Amino acid sequence: MNLTKNFTLQELTASDWAARHGVENTPTPAVLAELRRTAELLQRIRNYLTASTGIDTPLTNISGYRSIPVNRGIGSSDGSDHVRGCAADFKALRMTPYQVCQALLPKLDEFGIGQIINELTWVHVSTKMVAKPINRIITIDRHGTRAGILQVRP
Ligand SMILES: [Zn+2]
Repeated sequence: MNLTKNFTLQELTASDWAARHGVENTPTPAVLAELRRTAELLQRIRNYLTASTGIDTPLTNISGYRSIPVNRGIGSSDGSDHVRGCAADFKALRMTPYQVCQALLPKLDEFGIGQIINELTWVHVSTKMVAKPINRIITIDRHGTRAGILQVRP
């Protein structure tokens, strides 16, 4: 089922961990409504990266919804926006996560990005606004969590 032009429900609920462990990862109707908003955000991001680079820029390796058992299985906390269908991790073709974050920084309000995280090998975005503004734009790598979009050190 397509949620937007380029993003399917299957893509936003896919989980290698769930498949490997035979664990259910089917969203409730409430989560599905949030996943639609998340897909719309990903579509805006895809369109924007494509327009600003001048070349089709698909988003890949998407991790969207994760049920509580799946989310716990991969070691994430129950408070994660992924559990509510409000967040997605992704890569963009030919771009580093740092480059994607830099491109999106001026567009956070316009696109409805409540949180953006530059992680080692992917970008995390959430449609939900963080409680503390300091947590809206962060970088997480093996050295910890820091404010702002920084070059990550592997
Ligand atoms: Zn994430």
